[in-house]
Amino acid sequence: MGYIKIAYREILHDLDYYSDLPNGWDKFVSKQAKLHNLIIKSNKNKCHCTGCNHDFISNKKINEETKCPNCHNKYLIKRSNLRHYEFKDYLSILDRVKDTFVIRYFELKTIIDALHTPHSSVVEFAREMVTDDYYRDVVVNERVSRTQCHIYIHHSNSSYFDEKHWRQYTRNYSIIDYSIVFPNNLKKLLKDTEFKYSCIWDIAKHSTYIDLLKLLKNKNAISKLELLAKMKLYNLALRANEFYYTGSFQNTFGISKDYYPFMKKHNITHKQLKILRLLKEQNINKIRYLEKFVGYSENTDDLEEISKYISLSRFIKYAKIHHGKVATYLYKDYLRFAKFLGFDLKNNRYAFPKNLREEHDKLEKQYEIQNEKLINEAIVKRGKILSINAYKTKKFMITPASTLNALLDESEQQHNCVRTYAEKYADGSCDIYFMRDINKPDKSLVTVEVKDNAVVQSRKKFNYSPTDEQKKFLEKWEQKVLKGAA
Ligand SMILES: [Zn+2]
Repeated sequence: MGYIKIAYREILHDLDYYSDLPNGWDKFVSKQAKLHNLIIKSNKNKCHCTGCNHDFISNKKINEETKCPNCHNKYLIKRSNLRHYEFKDYLSILDRVKDTFVIRYFELKTIIDALHTPHSSVVEFAREMVTDDYYRDVVVNERVSRTQCHIYIHHSNSSYFDEKHWRQYTRNYSIIDYSIVFPNNLKKLLKDTEFKYSCIWDIAKHSTYIDLLKLLKNKNAISKLELLAKMKLYNLALRANEFYYTGSFQNTFGISKDYYPFMKKHNITHKQLKILRLLKEQNINKIRYLEKFVGYSENTDDLEEISKYISLSRFIKYAKIHHGKVATYLYKDYLRFAKFLGFDLKNNRYAFPKNLREEHDKLEKQYEIQNEKLINEAIVKRGKILSINAYKTKKFMITPASTLNALLDESEQQHNCVRTYAEKYADGSCDIYFMRDINKPDKSLVTVEVKDNAVVQSRKKFNYSPTDEQKKFLEKWEQKVLKGAA
């Protein structure tokens, strides 16, 4: 159990005994709880909304979402034999004791029971002092039990749990980052602070899950928060750090200003912006569909590469044929091979392989063969040009690598990685020579890399350095032949 600093203990005590939950909190909680409902579907398309108990008919399928025609909320559809369903959300309140901001974390949990009646409860389980420290100051109460790898929050009757008994949270993984922030008291709380122009209250009102701590810690971003919030790009404001406002919309957001009304209308997220830049089409459904292929890390590299070969709209078409199950890392390579091999990617016959894995592997083989052919042709050409630098003494000789095979043979004999130089040698960004014993011209001795007519690396087997005698030969060659000084 971690020790809680005295100053913090006083803050916690003040909150427990003198602080009320803010006005409007109950309404806020029931609004969130309202989202914790289902549509229960039984025979003959009969549907029942657990939120407003309205019955209606719909032919939408199980696990799809549909709008209840009575309360107009959108809920997930479940089968009528459902016994138990749970919803959980983290909510938070910002509070201030003296000069310290505290974030109070709550869990809202709703259980839909076998009779399909929802039961919601909300309990406070953690508090966090907002400081400038790198380490986070989080305390949890008795409702939190810690098992090996996850946190469980007890909602049952409070007499078992002392909610005012706080202990320091000491695990090294974060207990909570994102929460739905109660927005109504933010403006007032932040009024006389450096956050007075931050518009965090607007951002909280228009975004769902927020890392409030991050917003409050990042004081450098306040002006950017304000700017983005005033532009009504609230979800982008959550990632204010990623933008450098330069005065030009295009340079700031990486997309033309023509897209601004669309971005504002849909309050687009950072991930959606990254996709929009590639898609360049004001179509939120397409963007949402593509989000599935980007994942949590927001890495859009695969989509970016795919978009070099075919439009993302065509990619969506292809993905839909395969029910959304397309491995983008395979597909982008497939397209690269297909393009290299001269297939017409405007034709769906080539752009939409039926069995991606199979076609990918087939083209990869062809690609490698073709690629090696091209590399070899280039190496033969270079070997001919560089052959004027061939040189020998009574003891040693040196010649340029003349074929891809010669290069592969050298690297095999040397157990070093000259093989990886093949492409660089082929495109002329370095020269490779083989230095050998005049009496054993087939046996590898020293591999020499040359750049701008100077030896930059000479390596023997297992990357050992050449002997003094061998070095002397190389120096002489460099002076006499490469630098052309007689
Ligand atoms: Zn309803």
